[in-house]
Amino acid sequence: MIKKVNSIISASWIYTADKINTLLEDHSIVILEDEIFDILPTKSVFDKYEADDVFALSDHIIIPGLINNHTHAAMSLLKGYANDLPLKSWLEDHIWPAEKQHVSEAFVKDGSLIAIAEMIKTGTTTFNDMYFYPNETAEAAVEMGMRANIGLVVMEFPTNYASDPEDYLKKGLDFRDQWRDEDLISTSLAPHAPYTTSDKTLSLVGTYAEQLNLPIHTHLHETMEEIKNSISQFKVSPIQRFGALGLLGPNLVAAHCTHVGEQDLNLLNQNNVNVVHNPSSNLILGSGIADISKMLDLGMNVSIGTDSSASNNRLDMFEELRMAVLLGKGINHKPEILDSNVAFKMATYNAAKSMNKGELIGSIELKKKADIVAINLDSIFTQPVYNPLSSLLYNGNQGGVDYVWINGTLKLNAGQLENIDLDKLTNIAKSWKTKIKTT
Ligand SMILES: [Zn+2]
Repeated sequence: MIKKVNSIISASWIYTADKINTLLEDHSIVILEDEIFDILPTKSVFDKYEADDVFALSDHIIIPGLINNHTHAAMSLLKGYANDLPLKSWLEDHIWPAEKQHVSEAFVKDGSLIAIAEMIKTGTTTFNDMYFYPNETAEAAVEMGMRANIGLVVMEFPTNYASDPEDYLKKGLDFRDQWRDEDLISTSLAPHAPYTTSDKTLSLVGTYAEQLNLPIHTHLHETMEEIKNSISQFKVSPIQRFGALGLLGPNLVAAHCTHVGEQDLNLLNQNNVNVVHNPSSNLILGSGIADISKMLDLGMNVSIGTDSSASNNRLDMFEELRMAVLLGKGINHKPEILDSNVAFKMATYNAAKSMNKGELIGSIELKKKADIVAINLDSIFTQPVYNPLSSLLYNGNQGGVDYVWINGTLKLNAGQLENIDLDKLTNIAKSWKTKIKTT
């Protein structure tokens, strides 16, 4: 008997990101509701299944939806606002004053909508965020059918959003209670950085994370200056300070991790800390280069993030992956490391694992959520294709992302966003520029 399902997607290649990086040829994925129900050779799929939505993608490679593991989505409204500056001046003289003046519920909602449109168009199906007014980012994600892990920001100083660490935490935990039944939304605790949170606040975050079984998402070792200041103030590096406070563990998701010496690397490794590499942001701000190949050699869980549009200035994970592997090969003088399997694993399964979602997303396997991306490899940018995954790493995207499904729902159809008015979003970005520049 032929079973009725929601969608059948057939493609020339499917990179599964499973344990052995299986690359299937001429296979089909069967979606039932929000899950991957079956994966089988295309030649037999119609003997077993029928669907209203059938996609025959003979020019395409399918991969698991990409996971951008470190973002501040709403900051897409500050894209290009303060380029060509080091982190300290960028933050203290430009970004924080602009945020003080403009960040509001409306800013976060609009900025998040714009960021999510860019992310879906470039093959991202989950983002790991950290910003103020989490409710608005979550609303934007659910409206657009995007999966998001929302970091509940905590810091010492007041912002438009909250007045002190207790207020940040209270608002964050209220958010968590309010959104806990929403399929597409999960939460982390997000102490902003070692230099913006006290020992007392960090300890409190650690206690909540343990009690509530939540990941902790933070910036850690972003610049040399951060490390020097920590040593002069606390006599230890930020990583060592986190260790002393009991925060180093498998639930810690640490963005950046540049300038990590032997002792700090051992601490991260021994405690199974998850590292998020943000190569473009680190380069734009002149912060440094995280040597992720050392971390991967040790078996550490490394994933990839773009950071915000204000310091990248793109949210394109294909570009970020290419940057990550080229930098790693270059600084180590080893062209054979960081191949396409390692790269796409970082952008899919490793990120899912770091946010406790390894059972749900991050690979194309039975019973997982149907977060799926199809990229056209039949273009001037990619042909001839000798090794599809390698072609995707080095030549991929450039407008080639054609189809995106999130939670089983088609969000990008032949390159066009479903139910999202891109012109309207572009005009919203323009109107914020006028407001921000003229005040
Ligand atoms: Zn960041």
